[in-house]
Amino acid sequence: MRRARRIEKVPPYLFAEMDRKRREAVARGVDVISLGIGDPDLPTPDFIVDRLVHEARDPATHHYPPYEGTVVFRQAVATYYGRRFGVDLDPDREVMALIGSKEGLAHLIWAFVDPGDAVLVPDPGYPVYGTHALLAGGTVVPLPLRPELDFLADLEAVTAEDRHRAKMMFLCYPNNPTAGTADIGFFRRAVEFARDSDTLLVNDSAYVEVTFDNYEAPSVLQVRGAKDVAVEFGSLSKPFNMTGWRLGYAVGNPEAISALGIIKTNTDSGQFEAIQRAGAEALTSPAAREAIRRMRGIYQRRRDVAVETLTRLGCPVRRPRGSFYVWAPVPAGYTSAAFAAHVLEAAGVIITPGSAYGARGEGYFRISLTVPDARLDEAFRRLAACVTW
Ligand code: PLP
Repeated sequence: MRRARRIEKVPPYLFAEMDRKRREAVARGVDVISLGIGDPDLPTPDFIVDRLVHEARDPATHHYPPYEGTVVFRQAVATYYGRRFGVDLDPDREVMALIGSKEGLAHLIWAFVDPGDAVLVPDPGYPVYGTHALLAGGTVVPLPLRPELDFLADLEAVTAEDRHRAKMMFLCYPNNPTAGTADIGFFRRAVEFARDSDTLLVNDSAYVEVTFDNYEAPSVLQVRGAKDVAVEFGSLSKPFNMTGWRLGYAVGNPEAISALGIIKTNTDSGQFEAIQRAGAEALTSPAAREAIRRMRGIYQRRRDVAVETLTRLGCPVRRPRGSFYVWAPVPAGYTSAAFAAHVLEAAGVIITPGSAYGARGEGYFRISLTVPDARLDEAFRRLAACVTW
């Protein structure tokens, strides 16, 4: 058996690796608390589950769905963008349903990147952008997220040559893993950058609804003219605790959406229509804003516990206002990986080493707030017993 050479370029998928370590520790009898993976512990709200149960009984949902997503779901995404961001979308040309946003992010790269093409990828960043750029034969150009810029991408750091050869530029705000947030002024600069360099701008907005302290995160499409150069990816996974349902969307530039459609029609056959109908309910129902308000309150309380405990231990952590992650420097004398290994060994707690997200993540770790309050408290009690800064 001879596997494709491109597979060799792929580093082991971080979360699969972490899951292996967790299983090993559990097998040794350790009561492991994982603050590693961003998978909400809370259930999907009842009004969405009820709608799925109802729709699943309709045999009309049991067939292949339309490739681009059902009219009802695409219209619901357009309605959500109109209400939430004041952005007009044509559901026929500017919206596509995805089997989770990860699927769409990966496939968009195959629609744009030829061997040798450069792709600007946030460093640190969600690994999928860079991995698929490499698989497609592209070159990854790291786009630094600097703490002194509150983890906004440093567009000035891109050389004229890289700017010229970049086919795509990825952003992600609110950010995974740094929890940085962007205001509309930053998005304006990014759209200008993309226009000047003929680069497709992609904003991954998976965490756009996971925000605190009354902060509402913007959409890149709120920038005038953004649709000329940009697409945005969204997900039902995080706002509605629907990670297992696999439903997301891509919106924005119609040429980019149609290019993505060419890859997808030849790869998958869409998401179960009953899930799309329930997803449309999630995006447009009056109950949705209340569910989101409750979700924000829960993570905000957990964020406060995390920030207060880490601060007490001497860790210079920032108080994030978006995403359900806390990103903080490791104590002196540790690499990210050594610190994560120490915390698993000494406390039975899994944290993610920042280096897993790129070279600039070295020296940091990420905590996910997606465990029940009592477990989070217990994790911090154990951390406090074995680390100081
Ligand atoms: N984008 C970011 C930044 C993420 O952190 C994740 C999941 O953790 C995704 C996209 C994928 O989400 P989905 O469940 O919609 O595929």
